[in-house]
Amino acid sequence: DRDDSDILRENLKNKKITKDKGTRATVENVLDQRTLKFVNKFIYSGLIQQLNGCLSTGKEANVYHAFEGDLLQPEPTLKKQFAVKIYKTSILIFKDRERYINGEFRFRNNKSQHNPRKLIKIWAEKEFRNLKRIYSYPYILCPKPEDIKNNVLVMEFLGDNNIDSTTKPALKLKDYDEYETIEDVYQMYYKIIAYMRILYRVCRLVHADLSEYNTLVFNDDLYMIDVSQSVEPEHPMSLDFLRMDIKNVNLFFKKKFRNLVLFNERDIFQFV
Ligand code: ATP
Ligand code: MN
Repeated sequence: DRDDSDILRENLKNKKITKDKGTRATVENVLDQRTLKFVNKFIYSGLIQQLNGCLSTGKEANVYHAFEGDLLQPEPTLKKQFAVKIYKTSILIFKDRERYINGEFRFRNNKSQHNPRKLIKIWAEKEFRNLKRIYSYPYILCPKPEDIKNNVLVMEFLGDNNIDSTTKPALKLKDYDEYETIEDVYQMYYKIIAYMRILYRVCRLVHADLSEYNTLVFNDDLYMIDVSQSVEPEHPMSLDFLRMDIKNVNLFFKKKFRNLVLFNERDIFQFV
């Protein structure tokens, strides 16, 4: 007869989450009572078993690992895995977000945007919708969006699927080092440029925070993530965001692979 949140907190305590002060503060900060209620809805509906270890604690969101599973059903041998992205409810960081939402046709006339709790919901929904749109086209890879409730987004987990629950998440492009030849590096560089073009022309989106941190390499292929701030071309700043994305991509490849011959940013911009 314990409270749901007690059970969840206990689950979390027993998992990989380290108990240093900073992390605990973060966990508590993200998983307030209200948020836990939405997490529990996913558990009771049979989508996920529980929240496992934390994959990432970011400025604006934490990402947790979860196995699929209905507590009332027998355990399947090979369980699907999910990444559960939980947007933080703290107010400060949301100030900066208004510029992404203002000027977005899809979110115009939305009076909720000055209420931080509602803003975070809009923000999470924005990521969900953007993921759905990107996922619906076969030309760009991204995690399959599964479901969303308020500030809790469930998507496909990118990483190895081991039965023994030692999950290994996909590497960020920043950390990926399994290139065999320089050609492989060029392929990756070309691919990310192609992604920007397809994203713009087919999906009608500009990522607006594209970097070696927001791209994962899974099965040697490139996946786009973290699209909550992505905007449509009609957004008055979309081309500024695009130039920024291009700059980030070039800077990363320049830093990491010094001998690479890169396109200049204006040519990439024209191409996209
Ligand atoms: P923000 O930058 O808005 O604060 P964030 O950077 O914390 O958000 P993401 O970039 O979406 O959030 O995810 C953070 C990290 O979590 C990623 O770099 C990646 O390592 C991991 N991650 C996110 N989604 C997945 C996924 N679907 N599968 C595996 N790992 C993921
Ligand atoms: Mn990110």
